[in-house]
Amino acid sequence: MTGNLYALLASRFPADRSRPCFIEPGRPPISYGEVEAGVGRLASLLASKGVAVGDRVVVQAAKCPELVMLYLACLQVGAVFTPLNTAYTGAEVAYFLEDAEPKLVVRDAAALAREAASLPPSAEVHPCDADALASIIYTSGTTGRSKGAMLSHGNLAANALALHAAWGFTPDDVLLHALPIFHVHGLFVALHCAFLSGAPMIWLAKFDDQAVIEALPGATVMMGVPTFYVRLLENPAFTRAVAGPRRLYICGSAPLLESTFEAFEARTGHRILERYGMSEAVIITSNPLHGDRIPGSVGYPLPGVDLRIAGGEETGVIQIKGPSVFGGYWRMPDRTREEFTEDGFFITGDVGRQDADGRVWISGRAKDLIISGGFNVYPKEIELVLDTLPGVIESAVIGAAHPDFGEAVVAVIAGAGDEATIIAAARERLAAFKAPKRVFFVEDLPRNAMGKVQKAALRQAYAEVFAGPGPHQRSRS
Ligand code: AMP
Repeated sequence: MTGNLYALLASRFPADRSRPCFIEPGRPPISYGEVEAGVGRLASLLASKGVAVGDRVVVQAAKCPELVMLYLACLQVGAVFTPLNTAYTGAEVAYFLEDAEPKLVVRDAAALAREAASLPPSAEVHPCDADALASIIYTSGTTGRSKGAMLSHGNLAANALALHAAWGFTPDDVLLHALPIFHVHGLFVALHCAFLSGAPMIWLAKFDDQAVIEALPGATVMMGVPTFYVRLLENPAFTRAVAGPRRLYICGSAPLLESTFEAFEARTGHRILERYGMSEAVIITSNPLHGDRIPGSVGYPLPGVDLRIAGGEETGVIQIKGPSVFGGYWRMPDRTREEFTEDGFFITGDVGRQDADGRVWISGRAKDLIISGGFNVYPKEIELVLDTLPGVIESAVIGAAHPDFGEAVVAVIAGAGDEATIIAAARERLAAFKAPKRVFFVEDLPRNAMGKVQKAALRQAYAEVFAGPGPHQRSRS
């Protein structure tokens, strides 16, 4: 049997190919039959352009159904789908092009599909092994060069099957898809669950709270990043009636605040299912479909995932092994070696713990650890305290260089309040070395497209707060 992921996905397309695959508001639906034919024509076009097995196809293009068809066509012919964030600038793209050495670069998938329209659809699926390279996903790379995570057909198939089962997808589901598709969440997690069920997707080019509110009544499952849920809750039109008897609300790619989880439950009666993943392994842990979903925990390792905490510590860097863990970084054998242990576990860089029940709790990225006066400070612990204080919508805690302590704790708060009050309240609840030495208020925390707070940008913005010339800028403690 072939290990080609497209063969697996297509085998699950509905027997009745007239069933819808993409439902876009205001446009006629696109059926599974049309998708299959579109994929086949694009496969023919790729072949006519000389794209061969293992060739990279780099894509920086607007989200549309034809882009999904191009992804599937790449799988079909054995090419390596390499999507880029649409926000990358020319200079950034130049780096990726040099690194990936693509055979083809696509900026407009709809135009490519029009070019393929007159070609006969190819039905031939490249018969590859499960370990053949399917996709390169460039990590967001907040520090240093962005790395290309190499995911095989087998990595993606294993994760897709695990999620499809874990989240109970059936052909009766309708997935609301408002995520970008240059990232594993919208591209692999969401699409594969729909395809393995032969289910339709309500397809939105981007997240817009009003558009989601209008589309929700036709959907059974929504997948989102935390910002989606925050935005929905900010909209008074998002009521219990709108949220309705949906089957499932899934969230991930960045930490979901407990306050968001609770506000969502209070408004809608639904407990959001949070899961944890990354480009290098797609999804790693998930809260249960049946059973308690606990705010603040990312749930249990998926079946087949071996998860441990480095050094056998209670809290430490999470290491994983399993069928969806990537093979390495594209053309970076040294980095790959550094990020795997000798016994083959991938060092995720996320710090967390696993409780006696097996649930995983994430406390941040290892590189965000602050060492102040020789003590380790985990930002998440401070953020959890600050987030409960009056006036604080959300906080981000970073370290800034400090003449006495090496690094000192700085809190950046979305919300309004008074620095001295926040510091005093933090000191009542936390050891002095953990309490922020400075507090800054902003309207919104900086985030990337997946809703992750950009701590590197914050560290840069506040790098000098303790380095001023006068003693007035020195910490008082
Ligand atoms: P990316 O490779 O861009 O998908 O980023 C992966 C990183 O996102 C992980 O290593 C985590 O730091 C973070 N992440 C993803 N899901 C969650 C979650 N549910 N809670 C906390 N952090 C998360």
